[in-house]
Amino acid sequence: MNRKIIIAIDGYSACGKSTLARQLAKSLHYTYVDSGAMYRAITLYFIRHQISYNEANHISVALQGISLEFRQNENTGNSDIWLNGENVEKRIREIDIAEKVSEVAAIPQVRKLAEKCQRDMGKNKGIVMDGRDIGTVVFPHAELKLFMTADMATRVQRRYEEMKEKKGNVSLEEIRKNIEERDYLDTHRKISPLKQASDAILLDNTHLTKEEQLDFALALAKKVIDGILT
Ligand code: C5P
Repeated sequence: MNRKIIIAIDGYSACGKSTLARQLAKSLHYTYVDSGAMYRAITLYFIRHQISYNEANHISVALQGISLEFRQNENTGNSDIWLNGENVEKRIREIDIAEKVSEVAAIPQVRKLAEKCQRDMGKNKGIVMDGRDIGTVVFPHAELKLFMTADMATRVQRRYEEMKEKKGNVSLEEIRKNIEERDYLDTHRKISPLKQASDAILLDNTHLTKEEQLDFALALAKKVIDGILT
C-alpha cells in the first residue's frame, strides 16, 4: 500500500463526514483536513470584527488579517484549528457560528482563500478531506470520492447528542432548523454548491454504525490504493 491518494468526502450537514474522515485517515496513516473548520474560523473572525458580508473591500482587507493553521492536539490526538494564534476548535462548534457560516462560505473571496489552502495541503496526497466541494472543485481528480447523506431525523439526533456532550445548550428544534438552512444555502449558492460529483460513491449511513461505515470506506480505499478500483 505505497501509493498515496486523495480521498474527498462531501455531503450534507451533520451526517458524520468528519467522524468517517478522521477514522479513515487514522487507519491509513493519512492527514485529515476538516475544510468546514476553516469556514467556521473565518466566520468567527467576521463576527468578532463585525465584517459586513456585502462589502467586497472590507472582506478583502479582513481576509488579509486572518491566519489559519491546523495543529495537533496532544490531549485528543486530533488536529485543532487555530485562528491568528488562538485555538478556536471548540468555539467554532457553537450554534452562533453554525447559524452564520453558510452565508460566509458563499462569499467568493472567502472560498478563494480557503480553496488555495486546501489545495496546498493536498499537494503530497495522503490526505482525507471532508467538506461540500472537495470532490467537485477542490480536488476534482481525487482518486476516491464519497458523497454522504443520512435521513434528517438521524442527522438532527446525532448532532443534538454531540452538542449535549459538549455541554451546548441547544434544542432539537434549533438544530433541525440550522441543518435545514445550511443544506439549503450550501446547495443553492452560486459558487461551488454542494452536489454529488458524477464519480462519487454515495454513502447513506442512516442505518450504519460508525464501524460499518468505516469498513465500507476502508475497503474501497484499499482497492483504489492497490489499483483494483479506478
Ligand atoms: O463541515 P461543517 O459543517 O463544519 O461546515 C460548515 C459550513 O462550512 C458548511 O455548512 C458550509 O457552508 C461550509 N463549507 C463549505 N465548503 C466546504 C466545507 C464547509 O462551503 N468545503
